[in-house]
Amino acid sequence: MINIPLVDLKRQYNDHRDDFDSSISKVLKKSNFILGEEVEEFEEAFAKYCGVKYCVGVASGTDAILLGLSAIGVKNGDEVITQANTFISTILPIISLGAKPVLVDINPNTYQIDVSMISKAISKKTRAILPVHLYGYPAPMREISQIASNKHIEIVEDACQAHGTIIENKKAGSFGVVSAFSFYPGKNLGAFGDGGAVVTNSSLINKKIKILRNIGQTKKYKHDLIGFNSRLDTLQASVLSLKLKHLDAWNIKRRRIAKLYSKLLRDLPLVLPPDIALGNFSNYHLYVIRTAKRDKLMNFLSSKGVHCGIHYPIPLHMQKSVNKILGYQKNDFPLTEKYSRQILSLPIFPELKEQEVEQICKLITIFFNRQ
Ligand SMILES: *Cc1c(COP(=O)(O)O)cnc(C)c1O
Repeated sequence: MINIPLVDLKRQYNDHRDDFDSSISKVLKKSNFILGEEVEEFEEAFAKYCGVKYCVGVASGTDAILLGLSAIGVKNGDEVITQANTFISTILPIISLGAKPVLVDINPNTYQIDVSMISKAISKKTRAILPVHLYGYPAPMREISQIASNKHIEIVEDACQAHGTIIENKKAGSFGVVSAFSFYPGKNLGAFGDGGAVVTNSSLINKKIKILRNIGQTKKYKHDLIGFNSRLDTLQASVLSLKLKHLDAWNIKRRRIAKLYSKLLRDLPLVLPPDIALGNFSNYHLYVIRTAKRDKLMNFLSSKGVHCGIHYPIPLHMQKSVNKILGYQKNDFPLTEKYSRQILSLPIFPELKEQEVEQICKLITIFFNRQ
């Protein structure tokens, strides 16, 4: 019986068990759980990896976006532009700061923010554009940067799915004045729990976020800013430093899996992920196909032991928690809405075997032959 999950974290742990166990027990012996030296070591390594000057480890990707927006001064009454098909954590921090998320629809081929719609969404209140490298695919950063610099608006990247993604030979996260990463376990660089990071080239923003994440403290018991308790903990930092050394190799394995899927599925009535232009690299956080028979296909695969995901089944403007705050109606984002009924994320993780990809593709072929 096949049993292939969307992501299998156990395989990665088992492959490097001794390394993980020894780095964790090193921290346990020192018991330097909060802001131990491992945090700074990871921050330096991850900044270098992203090609930026600074990195600040925080408690989650959601907090990374929150602290990033907070550090550039996003406040009550401001507007931040992002896309309608993203994870809710892209917009919750905007709302937490009293600002308004302004949504736009997506490019029909790439699933990324539709650049032509950004200009129309800009108003006097726009403080930032918050593009998401959704599925690990490169967002159109050159076009977005042009719009932002013409209008004197900041870019904050949601790079929570984009560890190692490359756009025109630069790493995702190096375009925004500040950018956010998540180390949620299922991400390409995932901790053994929650974690996140803010990266920036600005020493001022770096200093501010270091204070903000640590309850606004500049010296012990001296609190100069209204801060948050949002530190990356030492245990997670030690795990992340270890994993960072493997990230590029793991991303290449993901790309190999994606290529195999695309080869084996190309003759089926499915829309496959878009090609990647030269000088760009998708980290294939997700491998997303599209079909009008999505629900049937997903159920069929699940009945055969292949477990897929949907990213995301309910567009943000139709979520109960925020639909009144956002103030949009059904049909305001036709592509996002249509695709939410058609997209399907197939299992992908570095340890997925070629033979398993073949099994999955064989099942998908059987499904379409029966239709
Ligand atoms: C995972 C994710 C986040 C939030 O990260 P957490 O670490 O879970 O808080 C934000 N945006 C996107 C696009 C994500 O995929």
